[in-house]
Amino acid sequence: MNDYLPLSYLNQLAYCPRRFWYMYVQGELAVNAPMLEGTLLHERAHRPGTETDPHGRTLHRRVWVWSERLNIAGFADLVEERDGALLPVEYKHGRQGRWDNDEIQLCAQALCLEEMTGRPVEQGEIFYWRSRRRVAVHFDQSLRQATEAAVTQAQALLAANAIPGPITDRRKCRQCSLQPICLPDEVVLLNQRAP
Ligand code: SF4
Repeated sequence: MNDYLPLSYLNQLAYCPRRFWYMYVQGELAVNAPMLEGTLLHERAHRPGTETDPHGRTLHRRVWVWSERLNIAGFADLVEERDGALLPVEYKHGRQGRWDNDEIQLCAQALCLEEMTGRPVEQGEIFYWRSRRRVAVHFDQSLRQATEAAVTQAQALLAANAIPGPITDRRKCRQCSLQPICLPDEVVLLNQRAP
């Protein structure tokens, strides 16, 4: 069986390669309150199955998607059929962030769906529970390239088999549940003092 890279870890990689390493390679999962809330919401909202909504649209919940070309796989929370087009929808527990990691995860789902069905997938949506907002995401060339670059980076990290250093954007670190394990400032300081 193929050793697919899970789509959810692609989100972590896009946020911070070191966080990806901790979670995917070392299995660290420092769960904070928002993460726990998100897990519970996902469990409640995403029972697998197909249904028709009041507008006559077909909804497929918790769909397993994969790409042989990129060697990635995972679940799409929801795939809607709208006017003949497939539209993946990802549910996130918080608010829309400043970074593109959620978009990259969703775009990876779109690339999988395109490969599986042979149909173009041009647009998706991310629903943020906290703000109750659906954000449209267009899978343009730039997002597709960023997504494929994230896959390549993840594969290169795994091949190199060495934990990446801390990122420089401390705004991300302040929101990262792994900060007490990662200790980014301390690691940078120690590296600066190393002979
Ligand atoms: S604390 Fe910062 S450097 Fe460390 S894993 Fe989190 S985001 Fe990455």
